[in-house]
Amino acid sequence: MPLNSPWRTDFPGIQALDAEGQTYLDSAATAQKPQAMLDSLLGYYASGAANVHRAQHLPGERATRAFEASRGKVAQWLNAASSEEIIFTRGTTESLNLLAYGLEPLFAAGDEIVVSALEHHANLLPWQQLALRRGLKLVIMPLDSCGQIDLAQAATLISPRTRLLAVSQLSNVLGRWQPVRELIALAQAQGALSVVDGAQGVLHGRHDVQALGCDFYACSSHKLYGPDGVGLLYGRGTALAQLRHWQFGGEMVLEADYQHARFRPAPLGFEAGTPAISSVIALGASLDYLAGLDQAAVIGHEAALHARLLAGLSARDGIQLIGEPQVALASFTVAEVHSADLAHLLTEQGIAVRAGHHCAMPLLKSLGLPGAIRVSLGLYNDGADLTRFFVALDKALELLR
Ligand code: PMP
Repeated sequence: MPLNSPWRTDFPGIQALDAEGQTYLDSAATAQKPQAMLDSLLGYYASGAANVHRAQHLPGERATRAFEASRGKVAQWLNAASSEEIIFTRGTTESLNLLAYGLEPLFAAGDEIVVSALEHHANLLPWQQLALRRGLKLVIMPLDSCGQIDLAQAATLISPRTRLLAVSQLSNVLGRWQPVRELIALAQAQGALSVVDGAQGVLHGRHDVQALGCDFYACSSHKLYGPDGVGLLYGRGTALAQLRHWQFGGEMVLEADYQHARFRPAPLGFEAGTPAISSVIALGASLDYLAGLDQAAVIGHEAALHARLLAGLSARDGIQLIGEPQVALASFTVAEVHSADLAHLLTEQGIAVRAGHHCAMPLLKSLGLPGAIRVSLGLYNDGADLTRFFVALDKALELLR
């Protein structure tokens, strides 16, 4: 079965890489972009750039309308109750740092923040540093052997001392859905706030923030087939009201005099200065593109590719999968082979995969691994990409063993 992607030709970047002999299998790091997004980006500049939320002139009004329309599309994609619950940031990392700063006054010494053992640095270090600043305890939920947060143990760790739960929906190393809804329910029962790192999860059909029940959800445009430099932060209305303002400047004030100022509520109160206007508008085009696809067909295609990836890896001697991935990616090591050497030989053969600690150093350390290779898929990948990967892998392993 060829496993062709009917969407491959919508992505000029993939076609350019094809022409260069590059097989792109690193979409969990960043995704290629559909033509519709490129058209939107160029169209914004070609039709006359203007700042948003400031000017009353026609170009300014047009830019503001398109910018706010994107906020509405994001709200729809995430199933937020209102577009007022969507703040634009620079990325997942900035969204999570905003939260760790903005929620800081809510914590008192001795309070606990609960995270899991699989967190990306972006959803670990802001909380770790907050804990160090404020004398809080950072509690780490352990994983089971599949790479899933152990719910029974989590239930004993989430306690009346828990002030906040911060957890990834889908690990960028383990490719496994986490029991986020259940964890959030445990946190809520203790009166704690919940933050979901949706950087990977936002892509694969489970991006309904109301169904998750979280207070905050953070993700990045660039993994969502949109431009880089834009992040999303969803906050439930009542949760947003607890955030202190963090960056100060243009368009975030209601009123200012020399000595004092009053600030706007979310979202504009958290978007000081000129935002990434073209990129936010172009993200809207990416979401329109995604929303126009047959969602079941996309999920089916990605599942078929993922199954082929797992089957190919498990058919080869000495390959050790990390955990039991369910979607979009697989990370692995090879007995007696350093992953950096393997990555080097794959790179030489035009295979673009990721090697290293994947910004989850504590997780890899806890597994006793210095690094791992990660293969990750986008909706444009096809069976031929995997065939080229496996041919290159076999050749590399022959040389290394
Ligand atoms: N969390 C997870 C699970 C991720 O995979 C990533 C990106 N690798 C991030 C957070 C950070 O995203 P960004 O670099 O776009 O801020």
